[in-house]
Amino acid sequence: MFNDLKGKRVLITGSTMGIGLAAAQAFARCGAKVGINGRHAPQNLDALLGAMRADGGEAEFFAADLSVSAACTQLVADFVARFGGIDVLINNAGGLVGRKALTDIDDDFYKAVGDLNMRSALVCTQAALPHLKAAAAASGETSAVISVGSIAGHTGGGPGASLYGAAKAWLHNIHKNWVDYHTNDGIRFNIVSPGVFDTAFHADKSEEVRQRIAAGIPMGRFGQGADIAPSFLFFASHACSGYITGQILDVNGGQHMH
Ligand code: NAD
Repeated sequence: MFNDLKGKRVLITGSTMGIGLAAAQAFARCGAKVGINGRHAPQNLDALLGAMRADGGEAEFFAADLSVSAACTQLVADFVARFGGIDVLINNAGGLVGRKALTDIDDDFYKAVGDLNMRSALVCTQAALPHLKAAAAASGETSAVISVGSIAGHTGGGPGASLYGAAKAWLHNIHKNWVDYHTNDGIRFNIVSPGVFDTAFHADKSEEVRQRIAAGIPMGRFGQGADIAPSFLFFASHACSGYITGQILDVNGGQHMH
């Protein structure tokens, strides 16, 4: 179904575990050339890359702390040096950083949440833009930017997660501007917006809290990597979504509806 992803060059930020890794593994199974990224190499890096290569993809790891603009630019340069260009950029790196009530937010926290969730996507997209444009011109197909939003971007976020929720809403919104001004470059911009997924993101929650959250989701459970990975394949595939841009795909088991 996603045959056109074979050989596509896909850079996924923050992808050594969780949702990003599930997406990377799915692209590898389609025969894509996949760049995974984290601040540091994970302990199981060789096994991760080996499995993706055995599945038919090319896979490489690129270390970069994407809270820092220069590291975002370097990541894109390193990926292009290895694979010769970029067809698909997935801005997945993100996280809560911590939880702080309105009364406790200080400049350092504001900067840390903004740098990880907004600056990283902004600067990676900026750096990838000429490469995505060149890839579209060369192939005659659209290139794709896919950013990972959040249910928090719609609802405002849970306890202490106001800045995180606002940062995700910012991502949901800035894509609209990119659609207006960069569709001519042959690039589509779409958001995959997860609900509650069973990753390290929720490591701070007790089993009791997890069960309470799950009970509030119509499907009665947290999402797993396999529940969301195909959404990235869909938005990356020109054959599947070549006329779809500026959209937010909510993957949340019915937890939030518009
Ligand atoms: P995770 O904690 O399992 O994975 C986070 C990934 O980001 C890891 O690979 C980590 O190495 C990387 N990362 C963290 N800081 C980084 C940095 N400074 N530079 C580079 N990489 C960095 O989390 P996840 O649940 O897989 O989250 C992935 C995305 O999905 C995030 O943008 C998150 O905000 C979003 N999201 C998650 C959920 C959820 O319920 N899990 C819900 C909504 C949105």
